[in-house]
Amino acid sequence: MKIMIDRNRCEGKATCLDVCPEDVFELQKPAKQELSWQSRIKLKFHGGEQAFAVNEGSCTGCELCVEHCPEKAISLDNHDSDQRKDPESFYDPGS
Ligand code: SF4
Repeated sequence: MKIMIDRNRCEGKATCLDVCPEDVFELQKPAKQELSWQSRIKLKFHGGEQAFAVNEGSCTGCELCVEHCPEKAISLDNHDSDQRKDPESFYDPGS
C-alpha cells in the first residue's frame, strides 16, 4: 500500500494520527522545496508540521485516514506499479 500525502493540502491537524489503528503517521517538518509558496505561508500558521507516513508498511488499507482527513490530503494507491507518484512529492494543481 502506498500512502500519498498532498504536501500542499496537509495542515498538520493530526486527524490521521488519531484515527489510524496502525500508528502509521507522525508529524514532522516538511522540506520547504516540496511546498508551493502559498503552502509555506499556510504552514507557518499551522504549527510548521505535516503528517508523514513513517510506518507505511503497517498500513492495512482501511481508509480511515482518507475518510477523516479534513483537508482531503491523503490518498492510497494499492496498485503495485512503477509509474505511481512519489508520495512525498505528490502535487495537486487544483489545490
Ligand atoms: S488506511 Fe488505515 S491503516 Fe492505512 S494509514 Fe490510513 S488509517 Fe492507517
